Amino acid sequence: MRMYDLITKKKRGEELSESEIYEFIGGYTRGEIPDYQVSALMMAIYFRGMTDAETAAMTMAMAQSGDTVDLSEFGALTVDKHSTGGVGDKTTPVIAPIVATLGCKVAKMSGRGLGHTGGTVDKLESFPGYKTSMDSEEFFDCVRRCGMAVIGQSGNLAPADKKLYALRDVTATVDSIPLITASVMSKKLAAGSHSIVLDVKYGSGGFMKTPEDAEKLARGMVEIGKRCGRNIAALITSMDIPLGFGIGNSIEIKEAIEVLSGRGPEDLRTVCISLATEMASLSLGLEREEARGAVLDAIESGRALAKMKEWIGAQGGDAAFAEDTSLFPLAEFERQVTAPTDGYIYSMDAERVGIASVVLGAGRMTKDDEIDHSAGIILAKKTGDRVKKGEVIATLYTNREAKLDEAEREVLGAIRFSDNEPEMPALIYKTIR
Ligand code: URA
Repeated sequence: MRMYDLITKKKRGEELSESEIYEFIGGYTRGEIPDYQVSALMMAIYFRGMTDAETAAMTMAMAQSGDTVDLSEFGALTVDKHSTGGVGDKTTPVIAPIVATLGCKVAKMSGRGLGHTGGTVDKLESFPGYKTSMDSEEFFDCVRRCGMAVIGQSGNLAPADKKLYALRDVTATVDSIPLITASVMSKKLAAGSHSIVLDVKYGSGGFMKTPEDAEKLARGMVEIGKRCGRNIAALITSMDIPLGFGIGNSIEIKEAIEVLSGRGPEDLRTVCISLATEMASLSLGLEREEARGAVLDAIESGRALAKMKEWIGAQGGDAAFAEDTSLFPLAEFERQVTAPTDGYIYSMDAERVGIASVVLGAGRMTKDDEIDHSAGIILAKKTGDRVKKGEVIATLYTNREAKLDEAEREVLGAIRFSDNEPEMPALIYKTIR
């Protein structure tokens, strides 16, 4: 195989064979193919697309590019969830303990923040002492004892995705349906859970800007999961507006604890309950209504919050922070962002709000940057709210005082004001099963 020929073939819109795809993924993972040729192929795929057969072959080649996790000792009870990424998306620390109280086994590997989107592993490190890396014996033991464990992605799980994702991130080739499908599904298949629930985001803060594109992506991923013998469903949810009011690591963990306490923002609560219902239904074989009742009961009875404390403690974290969230420190400097005019908040570009939180220190500009867990944004108003000139829309928190002006500009630049009330995007557009 000559990489040059593969690039030419895809440039002309021709279909790559299964063996060509396996050779390219294997060669790139082993470091035998240079980034510049793979970048050219990614861009050709971006414009020419891939057939279902090509996407399936690429997914399998990437899933098999490194270790796979054998969760067979937990039978069919294992369940995983994946979000295509968003701003303020703190659903994992809410739903994992909920479904673990119902008997599901959550052996989860999560990612770090990327670009304007946050990552679960960074958020969990807000708990002092929480270990996001464990050897496989410790990880399995935690799942056996606690019903759940959440760690960072192991070094050799789908290594092809790790390399490709980093390359796509800097070559403007992330938002391609076949490439996202192969990236997400290769990791989920390698991670070994029997049931998988996908949260496919659409809107300004997601990689898919329209619900139609998100549906296309969701259907493709569900199809591949089924073909590989997994129970799988995808919810298509809005990321036109940040989820909940908090953006930034410990700020988001505090909001997740609010939801587990039976309170919290309505949009976040709705998405969490829907995802947890789908997970419980798929992995425990419950009817949806029954699963939903069990999820609500796990929250209202306090069992889900108790499970969170048990889990955080089992992974070495200080569970007292889940009991008393005032223990989480807030950054030293704050700034209130106020409305420059009267009117409705007509739209709020979630991506720009995410960028503002990165500027404040809650995310990384480069992959070696240190995260500031105490930095971020608490929104007071969101799309659809009516505001008066001078009213507080958001509070910014940072330890980098010099960054406050830039972050404020980003937040104000993200918002469109209007005299007209906006039409609200569907929070849950569709479920694909
Ligand atoms: N999330 C992933 O894991 N991969 C992508 O390509 C996009 C979002």
